[in-house]
Amino acid sequence: MYDVIVVGGGAAGLMAAGTAAGKYKNVGIVEKNSRLGKKILITGKGRCNVTNAADISDFFPQIFRNGNFMYSAFYSFTNEDTMALFRELGVPLKIERGQRVFPESDRAGDIAGALKRYCQRGNVQFISGTVKSLFIREGRCQGVCLSDNNILEAHKVIVATGGVSYPLTGSTGDGYRLARQAGHSVVPPKPALVPLELKEAEVKELQGLSLKNVSLKVIDSEREKAVYEDFGEMLFTHFGISGPLVISASSHIKEQGSYRIVIDLKPALTEQQLEKRLLRDFEKFQNKDFKNSLNELLPKKMISVIIKNSGIHPDTKINQITKEQRKTLISVLKGFTFTYKKKRPIEEAIITDGGINVKEINPSTMESKLLPNLFFAGEVLDVCGYTGGFNLQVAFSTGHLAGENV
Ligand SMILES: Cc1cc2nc3c(=O)[nH]c(=O)nc-3n(C[C@H](O)[C@H](O)[C@H](O)COP(=O)(O)OP(=O)(O)OC[C@H]3O[C@@H](n4cnc5c(N)ncnc54)[C@H](O)[C@@H]3O)c2cc1C
Repeated sequence: MYDVIVVGGGAAGLMAAGTAAGKYKNVGIVEKNSRLGKKILITGKGRCNVTNAADISDFFPQIFRNGNFMYSAFYSFTNEDTMALFRELGVPLKIERGQRVFPESDRAGDIAGALKRYCQRGNVQFISGTVKSLFIREGRCQGVCLSDNNILEAHKVIVATGGVSYPLTGSTGDGYRLARQAGHSVVPPKPALVPLELKEAEVKELQGLSLKNVSLKVIDSEREKAVYEDFGEMLFTHFGISGPLVISASSHIKEQGSYRIVIDLKPALTEQQLEKRLLRDFEKFQNKDFKNSLNELLPKKMISVIIKNSGIHPDTKINQITKEQRKTLISVLKGFTFTYKKKRPIEEAIITDGGINVKEINPSTMESKLLPNLFFAGEVLDVCGYTGGFNLQVAFSTGHLAGENV
């Protein structure tokens, strides 16, 4: 008989188990992967953006799905608490642009390792296995049933099985099934923070091109209204666009909507400054063809696409380019435009939008309002935030709160 069984050894489950082990002797964590914290290893491109150093009150606008539900969780285990815990567990941290917090080593493995130590410190038992269902008896959750038909009896159960994104890391939506068994409703999962497919065939020509310091605007074509604008990095892929800017933009896009993606390739220059810059280049290359005049302004891969979009014949001599054509070129450079086709599938999403309906969960304890002794934590819940370390903080705060309240 366990005091507590945690289902899922990801960020939320490890935090929940380690915290519960501060109070109870017999805490077990069941994980179906051969290693714990598999998803943590791929976070932040292997560097793990573990949390954000902004004031905790500034976290709420960053949680675009059910931020209010996070009130108790964020205040009972803040980003400062997260940072203090990792430092105490021997992981020095650093703060980068946008207040993003990373391990000083740039190794996500250090974060996963620290969470394992947190659990080992409390003698949490690691159980290798897949939870098939909840063990419900006399109207309360009394443990879990494994796929080998063994039953692990427990006074309390915390489900921290993640969403359905990146299923190779183990998050395959099992928690939704467990929740439904307890009578919970599940908000249908959709991809959030995901690369975007574009309609234009020319993106294929740009495949592999990565752009730094560009600005990206998403315009809702029906309302002619900008729904997102930011500055940063992005890249072209065989299907469309990806990278930090695009991933963040995707959460402002409705799957079925119609949008234009407008990239300003020279956001640091006004149109007048860009014109001056072009005139300088054109003077330097005055005897060349237009197609050979943009090497200093643009990455090689982009030149033929920009030329096509400008409508200027590539063999036009530079000294024959009219003022009007120059203006068109400037508008292409500052408004390189594509049409949104659709989001990439949920398997490729950084997080899952949707999950267990939070109205059925006590936000002060993470306990189910429907089945006593059952708790939830992490991405399995219908809570999600933007990039910047906010989603791991959701996992840590809800995991800690559940671990404390079992
Ligand atoms: C590529 C990528 C990069 C990301 N980068 C960042 C970042 O830098 N910063 C940030 O804040 N967020 C980032 N995220 C999001 C963040 O990783 C997740 O929100 C967070 O890991 C969720 O933690 P979790 O513990 O709830 O779920 P998970 O990490 O998915 O863990 C769930 C665990 O449960 C196990 N499990 C599932 N079902 C069962 C079962 N039936 N029986 C036993 N075990 C089971 C799974 O194997 C898994 O180990 C990133 C996500 C991805 C995909």
